Amino acid sequence: MKDFIVAIDGPAGSGKSSISDIVANKLGFTHVDTGAFFRAVTLEALNRGINLENEDEYSFLDDINVIYKDGKTYVNGKDVSSLIRTGEISRNVSTPAKLKRVREKVIEFERMSSHGKIIMDGRDIGTVVLPNADLKIFLTASNEERARRRFEQNKLMGIESDYNTILKEIIERDKKDSERAIAPLKQAIDAIAIDTTKMSIDEVSNTIIKLINERND
Ligand code: C5P
Repeated sequence: MKDFIVAIDGPAGSGKSSISDIVANKLGFTHVDTGAFFRAVTLEALNRGINLENEDEYSFLDDINVIYKDGKTYVNGKDVSSLIRTGEISRNVSTPAKLKRVREKVIEFERMSSHGKIIMDGRDIGTVVLPNADLKIFLTASNEERARRRFEQNKLMGIESDYNTILKEIIERDKKDSERAIAPLKQAIDAIAIDTTKMSIDEVSNTIIKLINERND
């Protein structure tokens, strides 16, 4: 198969990352999880104790390189994959993500990874990062189902969590991501929307694989 770019966007917990992983593995694509870049910047900002709202305090961006490779995230060569998945990062990440300075830097990381056969997932991939993608998907699911999935995921990983807190945090994060001025979470006009509320992971992955195969004929 020649170069092919798939953009998958959607709100928190819609299954973007797990599904992108499965599809990428089955078709021999590279999966790039762009949320990991914003999470890594947030981790670095929190470690440095800066005021997350203040764009002027992000000068450390000049000195960091974030790479997402084979499901792992590295900041200047250090593996931060599990450090970026904590509740603290999830609660804070929408603040750096709304800043122009942060988005400009992350777009460099994203574009560096966007060659070959790529599945990139995020919030603004189809609208801003890769507007010429060969296939754009917008994944959704009800708030309750997305919270349930996160809760079950945490349980599997041995992390104790509370369903109602997760539900509240997911709704808050989507609101911030959708209402920000720069590159908000939005369905691209040429994206295909898939409501995954009542679908299994396999059903969603197979639907996307079929769409890729159809477009690549
Ligand atoms: O996908 P994930 O939940 O890991 O994304 C974490 C956060 O990173 C999102 O809530 C959003 O604030 C930000 N993000 C973004 N644009 C992207 C991907 C993620 O603003 N393309």
